[in-house]
Amino acid sequence: MKIAVVGSGYVGLVTGTCFAETGNDVTCVDINEEKVKQLRAGKIPIYEPDLDILFDRNTKQGRLKFTTSLEEGVEGAKIIFLALPTPPGEDGSADLKYILQVAEKLGGIIKHYTVIVNKSTVPVGTADKVQELLGVKAKVEFDVVSNPEFLREGVAVEDFMKPERVVVGTRSAKAKKVMEELYEPFVRQGNPIIFMDERSAEITKYAANAFLATKISFMNEIANLCEIVNADVDQVRKGMGTDTRIGKRFLFAGVGYGGSCFPKDVKALYHTSKEHNYEFKILRSVMQVNNVQREIFFDKILEKYKNNLSGKTVAVWGLAFKPNTDDIREAPAVYLLDRLTQSGAKVRAYDPEAMNNVKEIFGDKIYFANDQYDALQGADFLVIVTEWNIFRSPDFDKISAMLKNKEIFDGRNLYSIEHMKELGYYYYSIGRETIGN
Ligand code: NAD
Repeated sequence: MKIAVVGSGYVGLVTGTCFAETGNDVTCVDINEEKVKQLRAGKIPIYEPDLDILFDRNTKQGRLKFTTSLEEGVEGAKIIFLALPTPPGEDGSADLKYILQVAEKLGGIIKHYTVIVNKSTVPVGTADKVQELLGVKAKVEFDVVSNPEFLREGVAVEDFMKPERVVVGTRSAKAKKVMEELYEPFVRQGNPIIFMDERSAEITKYAANAFLATKISFMNEIANLCEIVNADVDQVRKGMGTDTRIGKRFLFAGVGYGGSCFPKDVKALYHTSKEHNYEFKILRSVMQVNNVQREIFFDKILEKYKNNLSGKTVAVWGLAFKPNTDDIREAPAVYLLDRLTQSGAKVRAYDPEAMNNVKEIFGDKIYFANDQYDALQGADFLVIVTEWNIFRSPDFDKISAMLKNKEIFDGRNLYSIEHMKELGYYYYSIGRETIGN
C-alpha cells in the first residue's frame, strides 16, 4: 500500500518505518528541512532503540523515503497519516494549528479516495474539524479516521510492531476495511483492533494517559505520606501492586512525571472538560501533585544545605524524562537544573542520550560530563533524576572516593536502604527512610 506520513518526529518516524517494514511504500513528510536532509543522509535525529535497524533496511530497499513537499509526499497515497505536534497552548488546550493547516492544504491536493488518519493526540471533535476543513477544497471522496498512538518512547518500535491493541475511530465501512488490511500484520498474535467512533477514539487516548498520570501522582502522594509516618513506599508498592485489580506497573514514586505526553495530555483533557463546563477535579489534583513533587525534591536539597547552594558543585545523573530516550520535554531534570543553577550551584551533568538536547537550553551554564563518573569530579554531592540502567549498580567505592560529601539525593529510588546504610551515605530517596544526617 502507498502511505504518506506527515510529521517525522518520534511518532511519525516510527510509524513510517514500521509500516515500511511490513512491505508498504512509505513517504515521510516533514517541514523541517534540516531533519529531512539528515534522514535522507541515513541519520536518525532521535534516539529510539532498534529504530536504526529497521530504518536502514527499509531506506536501502527503497520502501522508506523522505521529503519536505506535502504534494510530493502524498502523491498516490491511499492513506495519509498525520503525526503532527499538538503542543499545549497558554491555557493548556491542545494547539491544533499544525493539524488544521495541513488538513486545509490536503483538501486541494488529494486526487482520489484517501483515508486521512490522525495519529496525533487531539481533543475530542478534531476529526470532525479536519473533515470539515478538507471538505472545503476536496473534489474527491475521503474519510477522516482517528487512530491514536500508544507507543512509548524508549520501546517505540516494539510497541508499534506488537501493539497490545490498536484503536481505530471510524464510522466508515470503507475506511475500516483499509485500516484492517494495514494493521493485519501487526496483530497476528491475536491482539485486538478495536473499532469505535471517532470521538470515542479521541477520548480513549486522553483517558489512558490521564489515568496513568493519576497512578503516578497517587503514588507520589502515598510516598509523601510514607515519609511523614516512617513507612516505606517501595514496600507499599509491592504490597498493593500484587493485587491484580491494581497491577504492578506505574506504581513507582519519584520526582514526578514528565515527557511530551502526560503533562500536555492531562492539561488538554482538563481544558476540554472546562470548555464543556465540567470541572474534572481529579485531574486538577494530579497536575498540582506533579508540580509540587519536583519542588519537594529540590527543597530537600536546599534544606540539607541550609538554603545556600552557592559555590556548591552538584553531580546530576540523568536528564531525559525517562530512560532509553533523548526526549527532555517537560523533564523533571530540566526544572531541577534551572533551580540548581539559579541557586548559584555549579552543575556537572551526565545522561547517556539527552545531553545534546539539554545543551540547547543551558549551553555552557552546565558542564556536560563524558561519563557518569566524570560528572562526580569535584562534586559535593550526587542527585539522580532518571533511572537509566547504568546508574543502578555503580561502583560505590569510586563514588565515595570522588564525592566531597557522601551524599546522594535519589529521585528514582535506585538503591536499597540497607546497602546505603552499610556504605555510610546520607541518602534521601522518595517515600522511604532518610539515612544519615
Ligand atoms: P515531534 O515534535 O517529535 O514531531 C512532530 C514533527 O512534525 C516534527 O518533526 C515537525 O518538524 C513536524 N511538523 C510540524 N509541522 C509540520 C507540517 N506542517 N508539515 C510537516 N511536518 C510538520 O512530535 P511527536 O512526539 O512525534 O508527537 C506527535 C503527536 O503524537 C502529538 O500529538 C503527540 O501527543 C502524539 N504522541 C506522541 C507520543 C510520544 O511518545 N512522543 C506517543 C503517542 C502519541
